[in-house]
Amino acid sequence: MTIRIEPIPALESNYIWMIHDDHAAVLVDPGCAEVALSALKAHGISLTGILVTHHHADHIAGIPRLLEEYPVPVWGPADERIATLTHPLQEGDTVDLDSPKLTLEVMATPGHTSSHITFFNDTMIFCGDTLFSIGCGRLFEGTPAQMQNALDRIARLAPDALVYCGHEYTEANCAFALSVEPNNPALAQRAQAVAQLRANGQPTLPVTLGDELKTNPFLRTRLPSLIAAARQIDPDCGTTATEVFATLRALKDSR
Ligand code: ZN
Ligand code: FE
Repeated sequence: MTIRIEPIPALESNYIWMIHDDHAAVLVDPGCAEVALSALKAHGISLTGILVTHHHADHIAGIPRLLEEYPVPVWGPADERIATLTHPLQEGDTVDLDSPKLTLEVMATPGHTSSHITFFNDTMIFCGDTLFSIGCGRLFEGTPAQMQNALDRIARLAPDALVYCGHEYTEANCAFALSVEPNNPALAQRAQAVAQLRANGQPTLPVTLGDELKTNPFLRTRLPSLIAAARQIDPDCGTTATEVFATLRALKDSR
């Protein structure tokens, strides 16, 4: 049966990703129950599971209400802060879903939070608030080295895989990225496409990992253009990927 993946816009800027076939769905990061329940109803399908990338409220707050309606398994990072978890996961684990029929691998991607995980296979990547299109998550509980490492590992996944991020931040991210890498034609092109999509009220996600590698400054910290940009921001910045990442992340945080 064909599997489809759709964004359910929630809260200010979140996307709950609904992975479904003709009968059933699993939800990724349901921060709000009402919009998710409406989407399930609109499709005439039931909920069979919930996947969680990290413990922040905007990714889990809808779970208790959903469980009242559908007592389903909840997979997510082994972290006490996710009270509704039934299947704690860690690096290297596999999630085998029956309906929709789907297998996802689990990768630890700490940085945004200490226990953040990413679900992936050859065709899809659910990275929560680790990787955004043209950006990345803030470092609430991790170091630049951890986040750089997490992004490096995501960057090595299948280039044709589609990236399903936790938030619609792409337009603002494009403005920042263009300010640090103004001469990247792929980025200029993506910024234009993104502006058009947002003007039409459409999501900018998913995006292929390959496209992100060409445009996302936080995945490009080893390139001369980004090293030069970081050293312009901070003349004391070194040339390692982690130092360049830290400088770019700090500049973005300050804006
Ligand atoms: Zn978060
Ligand atoms: Fe979030």
